[in-house]
Amino acid sequence: MKNTSDDKKIIHSIAEMRAYAADAAALGEQIGLVPTMGALHEGHLSLIRTAATENDIVIVSVFVNPIQFDDPYDLSAYPKTLKADAEAAFNAGADVVFAPGADDMYPKGFSSYIDMTGPSERLCGASRASHFRGVLTVVGKLFGICMPDMAYFGEKDAQQLTVVRKMVNELNMNVTIRGCPTVREEDGLAMSSRNARLSEDERVAARCLIRALDEARALYEAGETSAEVLSKALRNAIEKEPLARVDYIDIVDPLSLEAVPEARRGDLMALAVYIGEVRLIDNRRFE
Ligand code: AMP
Repeated sequence: MKNTSDDKKIIHSIAEMRAYAADAAALGEQIGLVPTMGALHEGHLSLIRTAATENDIVIVSVFVNPIQFDDPYDLSAYPKTLKADAEAAFNAGADVVFAPGADDMYPKGFSSYIDMTGPSERLCGASRASHFRGVLTVVGKLFGICMPDMAYFGEKDAQQLTVVRKMVNELNMNVTIRGCPTVREEDGLAMSSRNARLSEDERVAARCLIRALDEARALYEAGETSAEVLSKALRNAIEKEPLARVDYIDIVDPLSLEAVPEARRGDLMALAVYIGEVRLIDNRRFE
């Protein structure tokens, strides 16, 4: 049976969201959750469409999670477009948009966090100290509130997908995590809410990320497996672009996210690059 009601709605209250999810579960409906920070684009919508094909109820959360930002400017500059987001989410197959307030999610005195060592400390975790503590805590809270059977995450944020899977496994959470492929602009740039902050010149410069990944993949396909050589190729391709500044470039094992000396099938090339002030990430697996 699809859906407890045909009314699509935006829910702000945590109590109302829990009650809605509990009612749906009591009716035997399967719940899919797509956590987002809003400013929805085709990347998010592809997750929502996939969730809609696999569940009775699709909840899309829209919450700019303050505790995962280490840069107050990045947080304040994050686009907030709830009305347009809700419309786009409903059109893509969402039944509910859950948009809680920051003060409700983190009331005064809040002090419970989900921390992970290992893979969450590498890549983005090395340059953004408490980022994954914030991500895992909010994802844990969203799971507690929305009680999803399935939750959908993009491969664009490969490290996020890895650490969420590890958390669910290690903390015995009753939810199946689905990874969904990265959706790209025509020129290959991975879609991101942050792309809107690029100037025209920066938008052109941002192509260096996919160019670097393409060049390194071509080298790998030609037989090169040394991570040092492949990393150098990635770095050279980025550094040719004057507006780009490397945050990190790594070739890692997809589970531990530890650097590997030799690239094997399934390993991940992961990049974080500043284009002007905007930090972009991208990744690709060796096939
Ligand atoms: P965000 O709103 O940036 O936190 O992203 C919410 C979810 O959408 C995360 O699971 C992201 O990995 C996913 N996502 C963001 N951009 C893309 C993209 N270009 N392709 C696929 N998934 C994406």
